[in-house]
Amino acid sequence: MTANASIPRVALVTGTSSGIGEAVVRHFCAQGHQVLAVDFNPAGKAVAEQAGAAFFKADLTDGEACKAAVAEAIKRFGRVDILVNNAGIQHVSPIEEFPEAKWRQIIDLMLTAPFLLAQAVWPSMRENGWGRIVNIASVHAQVASPGKAAYISAKHGMIGLTKTAALEGGSQGITANAICPAYVKTPLVDGQIADQAKMHGMEEQEVIEQIMLKNAAIKRLIEPAEVAELVGYLASDLAGAVTGASWNIDLGWTAQ
Ligand code: NAD
Repeated sequence: MTANASIPRVALVTGTSSGIGEAVVRHFCAQGHQVLAVDFNPAGKAVAEQAGAAFFKADLTDGEACKAAVAEAIKRFGRVDILVNNAGIQHVSPIEEFPEAKWRQIIDLMLTAPFLLAQAVWPSMRENGWGRIVNIASVHAQVASPGKAAYISAKHGMIGLTKTAALEGGSQGITANAICPAYVKTPLVDGQIADQAKMHGMEEQEVIEQIMLKNAAIKRLIEPAEVAELVGYLASDLAGAVTGASWNIDLGWTAQ
């Protein structure tokens, strides 16, 4: 078996209208996989169709919408082989001022939805004896930074979900892994640069250099395609022995 010998699979990817999710959809389509791209932003339809994927509009903070997305993939393609939990948002403010509604929205989208989606795809993966769950966590699943209580809590929780799915899936041909990137050049990071500049009273370039790249050995932002490449590996046949692991793409942040 070689790296190019991947069999066409059916993938459900969330959070696909921009950034890492868009790059994953493009990567999978280029590999010949059938892809259902799921996002609440209607702009995701054109992004998905341009890449050769189908699109399903769903607000994943709603549990019923998570189940509907999986039902749509099974209706269209007959099964789900690969689940990539990627949709995410950020909100930056100190715990003392953190809005409860924002906390709940972040936990619903970034921890509860990945659980519900994994639960909904599980029977299809088990029946086929093959499944790949790839959770896009963050360097903030390993370490914390001030001002991001909900995001960091959700991402740390995602590692727990990944490990549990790995243990339960081991005898069923289902693997589960997490990817932990540092700052990737996406709209989500553009928003954080502005928020952090406001929170710390800094210029945006100072936020990038003094906060975002402070702990990085390699002083640059990561490209979405670099993350998509690792997703592609973890979703492949070749990664069948790899499960329950957290894969850092963090420019050396956590090496110290
Ligand atoms: P992005 O803003 O480009 O993409 C996020 C996607 O999620 C968008 O398409 C958005 O429409 C979608 N989304 C948001 N709320 C949704 C909802 N309620 N229902 C359905 N879809 C929804 O951001 P990104 O940087 O590509 O982030 C993707 C993932 O990568 C997130 O989970 C993020 O936490 C993680 N991540 C990003 C970075 C980074 O530096 N950009 C670093 C580590 C981890």
